[in-house]
Amino acid sequence: MTRQPEKRQIAFLDLPAQQARLGGSIQKRVDAVMAHCRFVLGPEVQELEQRLAAFGGAKHAIGVASGTDALLMVLMGEEIGPGDAVFLPAFTYTATAEVVLLLGGTPVFVDVDPQTFQISLASLKDRLEAVREAGDLEPRAVIGVDLFGQPAPWDELKSWATAEGLTLIADCAQSFGASYRGRRLGHEAKATTLSFFPSKPLGGYGDGGAILTDDDDLAALYHSLRTHGEGRTRYEVERIGINGRLDTLQAAVLLAKLDVFEGELKRRDAIAASYDAEMPAGIVPPARVPDSESAWAIYSVLLPDAAKRDALQSFLKDAGIPTAVYYPKPLHYQPAYAPHHDGASLPVAEGLGARVLALPIHPELTDEDVRHIIEALNRWAGEQA
Ligand SMILES: *Cc1c(COP(=O)(O)O)cnc(C)c1O
Repeated sequence: MTRQPEKRQIAFLDLPAQQARLGGSIQKRVDAVMAHCRFVLGPEVQELEQRLAAFGGAKHAIGVASGTDALLMVLMGEEIGPGDAVFLPAFTYTATAEVVLLLGGTPVFVDVDPQTFQISLASLKDRLEAVREAGDLEPRAVIGVDLFGQPAPWDELKSWATAEGLTLIADCAQSFGASYRGRRLGHEAKATTLSFFPSKPLGGYGDGGAILTDDDDLAALYHSLRTHGEGRTRYEVERIGINGRLDTLQAAVLLAKLDVFEGELKRRDAIAASYDAEMPAGIVPPARVPDSESAWAIYSVLLPDAAKRDALQSFLKDAGIPTAVYYPKPLHYQPAYAPHHDGASLPVAEGLGARVLALPIHPELTDEDVRHIIEALNRWAGEQA
């Protein structure tokens, strides 16, 4: 029997390595919760909320149970319901759109920019026009998504939404920590939603999320909505709400993670810069949104077609390098959304699913891991030439 040389296996998300690096400080925070036992809305939730607000440059942060609940409560606050149109990109995670339908509203899918994959202003204008012409929905809101960690065109979205009388909402699930024209993301819209799902840049150890806002009345409304619509006293029910609170234990984990978050963002950015610098011809690195810094939730390259993408994916797999496809289908092609789509073609979003491929990008990657990935990409490209 011949001995196989030791094979490097890289993780797409390496929570055991994260534990080895941060486990001690996280455990201390968790132990404090176990000692005081205030598992629901304990002091760590408020401490985290203050730090998130400061970090994102917003006046208020409200800790909630997930990024999806954050979006749901923001739309509940806007009283989105039957007959309302909410514009959002077709190329995003399902959560951005599902909350609209949960409330009886209609998601109106918008195409994305062919370079940055962010929501397209030109398509947004077309889609609003189409909704107005059809006349059966009332245009109410637009949800901008910072896809993959890079900012949506917030300044342009803001002036457009204001001019058109639409409410602007920011889905920052992938981008907390990113900046845009010198500003940290967190206060570009009336309300900003965050997710702390373990794979997001600021990831917890379970589900969690937050809503950021500068508006005092809205902050009070979200506090009420996350606790069953409670009024001034516990058993006064002022409105219909949900059980949408962030657990104290998640807040404790996130407080420890927030201590090292800036350093992790720098590490992600350094890895992205290494990939960019040594990306072989034939594999297109992610186009950068000008004058911005990404939080690098996802580093997704673009291949010329599906056959090449699939070939690269299986080549990398054999080299011990896991990859992922975000997202294989635009939302309006998904069975759950197709019946709600007006049939408009959104050609950029429709073409991307076959060509994108996300490489590992997380702070636990070593320099050797990054080198191994870059060498594999170049080996594959060399074989294609
Ligand atoms: C992850 C994600 C969400 C949902 O967040 P959860 O915490 O998983 O509910 C919403 N929008 C986008 C763009 C996401 O990536």
